[in-house]
Amino acid sequence: MGESGKSYDVLVVGAGNAALCAAITARRAAARVLVLEVAPREFRSGNSRHVRNIRYAHDAATEYVTGPYPVEEYWQDLLRVTAGKTNEKLARMVLEQSAHAVDWMQEQGVRFQQPLSGTLGLARTNAFFFGGGKGMMNSYFVTAEDIGIEFLYEAEVTDLKLDGGHFVSASVRHDGETREISARSVVIAAGGYEANIDWLKEGWGERAQNFLIRGSPYNKGRMLRVLLDAGAHPVSEADQCHAVPIDARSPQFDGGIATRVDCVIYSIVVNRNAERFYDEGEDIWPKRYAIWGRLVGQQPDQIAYAIIDSKIPGLFMPTIFRPVEADTIEELAEQLELDPKALRKTLDAYNKAVQSGTFDPTQPDGLHTKGLKPPKTNWAQKIDRPPFFGYPLRTGITFTYLGVEVDEKSRVLMGPEKRPADNIFAAGEIMAGNILGQGYVGGLGMAIGVVFGRIAGEEAARRAVN
Ligand SMILES: Cc1cc2nc3c(=O)[nH]c(=O)nc-3n(C[C@H](O)[C@H](O)[C@H](O)COP(=O)(O)OP(=O)(O)OC[C@H]3O[C@@H](n4cnc5c(N)ncnc54)[C@H](O)[C@@H]3O)c2cc1C
Repeated sequence: MGESGKSYDVLVVGAGNAALCAAITARRAAARVLVLEVAPREFRSGNSRHVRNIRYAHDAATEYVTGPYPVEEYWQDLLRVTAGKTNEKLARMVLEQSAHAVDWMQEQGVRFQQPLSGTLGLARTNAFFFGGGKGMMNSYFVTAEDIGIEFLYEAEVTDLKLDGGHFVSASVRHDGETREISARSVVIAAGGYEANIDWLKEGWGERAQNFLIRGSPYNKGRMLRVLLDAGAHPVSEADQCHAVPIDARSPQFDGGIATRVDCVIYSIVVNRNAERFYDEGEDIWPKRYAIWGRLVGQQPDQIAYAIIDSKIPGLFMPTIFRPVEADTIEELAEQLELDPKALRKTLDAYNKAVQSGTFDPTQPDGLHTKGLKPPKTNWAQKIDRPPFFGYPLRTGITFTYLGVEVDEKSRVLMGPEKRPADNIFAAGEIMAGNILGQGYVGGLGMAIGVVFGRIAGEEAARRAVN
């Protein structure tokens, strides 16, 4: 028995993309579904409300993408970024089934928009949501309510009662009380633990105190901890996460997409000592932004500064913050609280090392430095035309990878022998580490959530109804 004495077939914990994919699928399979979400209704949708696109396999250009993106190319992209740290069977399943994701989402009311251009360069591989993640999630909620899925907000699942690998009930804190809600099966789609700074410190040490969290403050990993404590087999590591450079002036939580600083490849990036520390032009930005969050986090005080001149604004997606601006490098340094002499020295050495060539902001242009350490291998133009601009950067954590191992039915694997749990399924960020042991390709988070959300919903309903 559950909420108001009702009984449910399937409980879904969380109300983000993976949860709604699971809930809708389970409900369409005739299950009675209750979704439990810790956030208030207006802050439902976790990190999913911040997303913009999904990477999915397709054979040809469509209204939403500019060309084909075969499964094999998707697989090669994944293999490269993870350096092989992926469960090939599950990963291939996600990539293959991602081919149906856009159609399925549209059937649930989600709308897509024309391809975008800009430094993201994802127009061929990723379909963009009309109205962003908020639009996508609101469409799901309308459909979910229409087909009779029930929701309970401000309802934190604090514990799970298990009998061996069998789910019995969830302890739910709501309205100042904790009560037990039982169901025949449970789908845990409660996201990662990126909003839990103490847990981040386990992987990153005290440095995590200076990290900013790009998404929901509610993703504290309570469900992940409960599952791991109950013997669920872990996957990936505590120091693996997706992190990008964001404006240091961003709020500690929920700054979303508008805080990401995308000018790194056209800039020089210096640390607090005004020294460069990595090749800013290594590759196109979508293939590199995820390493820059880590790089910034490894610098003294976990802060860095991207410096550009007046040739660059307009070439990248602007952030919500105006850059710091000055007519000279020394003034810019003072405003950024950097040593002016040290920044001048770094900039002069860089400008001197720049080789001649043609600057092309749209692709790696080979415009490089010579004799400079670290080198800049593309987009190395002189930074010499005032005014000069600077963005202070901090590590912005998008999501964590440590999660629970699952099988192809989305069942949580328990104990060292990895026994599939009887009626406990996991989907989305909480199990994304099965696919992403490290690294990232933009838009894969949504693909994992849609594919495993649907599988979890189907299997949980099958388990409940049979
Ligand atoms: C700024 C930003 C931009 C992004 N852009 C993209 C993009 O364009 N494409 C892409 O593929 N990915 C993107 N991502 C990653 C993407 O957001 C995630 O991969 C995806 O949203 C995860 O979905 P989920 O359903 O697993 O988790 P979430 O959407 O985070 O949902 C988890 C839900 O569980 C709830 N919850 C947590 N604990 C409990 C509990 N104990 N009890 C009850 N409820 C609980 C939370 O409140 C939350 O609502 C982005 C992330 C961020 C932060």
